[in-house]
Amino acid sequence: MRHDYAERLKKLPPYLFVAIDEKKKAALARGADIISLGVGDPDLPTPPHIIEAARASMENPANHQYPFGAGLKKFREAVASWYQKRFGVALKPETEIHALLGSKDGITHSPFSFVNPGDTVLIPEPAYPAYNSAVLLAGGIPHHLPLLEKNKYLPDLEAVPTDVLRKAKILFLNYPNNPISAVAPRSFYEDVVQLARLYGFMVFHDAAYSEMYYDEAPISFLNIDGAKDVGIEFHSCSKTYNMTGWRIGWVCGNAEIVKGIGLLKDNFDSGAFQVVQEAAIAALTGPQDCVRKMRDVYRERRDVWVTGLGRLGWKVFNPPATFYVWARVPEGYTSVRTVEKLLEEAHIVCTPGSGLGPSGEGYVRFALTVPVKRLQEALQRIERLKW
Ligand SMILES: *Cc1c(COP(=O)(O)O)cnc(C)c1O
Repeated sequence: MRHDYAERLKKLPPYLFVAIDEKKKAALARGADIISLGVGDPDLPTPPHIIEAARASMENPANHQYPFGAGLKKFREAVASWYQKRFGVALKPETEIHALLGSKDGITHSPFSFVNPGDTVLIPEPAYPAYNSAVLLAGGIPHHLPLLEKNKYLPDLEAVPTDVLRKAKILFLNYPNNPISAVAPRSFYEDVVQLARLYGFMVFHDAAYSEMYYDEAPISFLNIDGAKDVGIEFHSCSKTYNMTGWRIGWVCGNAEIVKGIGLLKDNFDSGAFQVVQEAAIAALTGPQDCVRKMRDVYRERRDVWVTGLGRLGWKVFNPPATFYVWARVPEGYTSVRTVEKLLEEAHIVCTPGSGLGPSGEGYVRFALTVPVKRLQEALQRIERLKW
């Protein structure tokens, strides 16, 4: 008996991290001591006061039922007060915030609320793969915007043909950026808002890494005058509070767009576990020194890795934010060949830039999700390689 997959599923490229994970598992099965710098998943635990809030919340039977809807009023108020404090952005908890099962939930479902088959969606590349997959699944046509060094890793919107801008339904953005770790200046967002108004597309900004910075704190897209008329921001507790496994995030901004995502979600899930929402409230409203400590840990790792690789002759982008290091591959190598060599000969897992988009060819991404000692061990292994 055959069980044919739907055409939409066949359109998807293989999910990159699954493929990398399979290679890593095979090496582990052979007994290799793998240093995993592949998937961007924090290795640090969720701070104790957040776990304690969840433990207490678990005791309340009301929290065992279907949560439904946009999220607890208290949760949305916590998000609003965090946005006010952190960015100086005012959000109405009733209409401008909706809880998500992690920001990926909103990122992947949002095109289904707004994209008709054949609609164009602007997506940067290289990028987090979820934007592209979701647009393909919704029947949209991705128009890719290369992120190039010469443009400071910002999409060159002036270079997009006018008819494409006119057809575009959504522009996805992500700063601080995965995989390159670039940040966007205010003037870029201002241009984006102006173009979105002019051509009538929506802006979906993924701000998952807004708290993982080492210089100046990045601004929110919603800081820009008029941003709330054209767009929304996806955010999450995942990276800020080491809560990737908990699955809690939110979408905020334009009320009509937020509502559109909520209408769809009502048909897919039944809300975020209230225990997890209460943990997120503790995270957002509690002491923030855990976030500062998190930054200190990643800053130290970044310094060790960037300096170490640099000393070995690698050309590395010193990231002002995120826990990724974007590095040029050695002469004569492709991204995939470099990843294979690092895995086979040094037992180091990293991500080929080309797997995140064609402009990522010639680069690899290292996720600094292991302690400094392991990074030093990885550097020693790389030093022994012959290229
Ligand atoms: C990790 C990450 C997220 C966060 O995803 P969650 O679903 O909130 O865990 C969002 N966007 C990007 C680009 C990421 O790398």
